[in-house]
Amino acid sequence: MDSDNPLVAVDVHTHLGRHGTHVHAPLAEHEIRAWGKVSWDVTEQQHGGASASARSSVVLAFDAEPVGVVVPNEYVAEAVRGNERLIGFASVNPNRPDAVDRLETAVRDLGLRGLKLGPTYQHFHPHDRACLDLLEAADHLRIPVIWHQGTTFTSAAVAEYARPLQLDLPARTFPNLRMWIAHFGHPWMAECVSVVRRHEHFYVDPSAMDTRPWQLAQALASAAEYRVLDRVLFGSDYPFSTVERTVAGLREAAAMCRRLGIAEVTDADIDAICQRDALDLLGLRPPQTSQST
Ligand SMILES: [Zn+2]
Repeated sequence: MDSDNPLVAVDVHTHLGRHGTHVHAPLAEHEIRAWGKVSWDVTEQQHGGASASARSSVVLAFDAEPVGVVVPNEYVAEAVRGNERLIGFASVNPNRPDAVDRLETAVRDLGLRGLKLGPTYQHFHPHDRACLDLLEAADHLRIPVIWHQGTTFTSAAVAEYARPLQLDLPARTFPNLRMWIAHFGHPWMAECVSVVRRHEHFYVDPSAMDTRPWQLAQALASAAEYRVLDRVLFGSDYPFSTVERTVAGLREAAAMCRRLGIAEVTDADIDAICQRDALDLLGLRPPQTSQST
């Protein structure tokens, strides 16, 4: 992809991390069992090549020791430093006794600009006091929060903490916090959309759904029926998918909606998702460079 003419405006969901260094058992073994390989093994150079397909990309740390994955905040901060196209997000497990301190350090000292949470991987319930305390810190820091709230292949994750409906309380408690649910909350897409629609600053991303065209079509149909297609942010979940595969998957799912007569999701709707200014919606626009873009 020509970096002067990227395919999408903002990819809100990409990963770094090396198998064996950051990604271990049990998750790595379970990924082999489910998918036949460990996709979560990406160099900074590979990430740089893939992220050229987007004008800006969010790069996520992940603090998920209970499933064997720790992509440290410091590692992500170092990887994005000096690259205006990359926006690093911290990850902190709320169960850590120093969770709030870690988040404040990641934002103020490391320059990270958002928070990644995955209750199913980090073994906490979104209603836990520790989680709400961490969200309060994120609210004070004025940073957005991405949630992995949906199913996953690894049995080391706690499935009971994965339902999108559990995020209604956090969204009610912090109405000004910008948040979004990854992967349309699969396989609970309608539940995900039903929560998102209730809150002005709540969004979704369709990442890693291109391998599940029927689920993605249902997700887009639900978003259209509940009138929240304008809350869909573009996300790829690289290296589990790519910008190109995600765009193609969205177009195919929209065509399936029309072919089946379940929703009138147009190519223009998909174009709008691809070109959506997520930096603006999530409060991530750097003031010092806003005039040059
Ligand atoms: Zn992801």
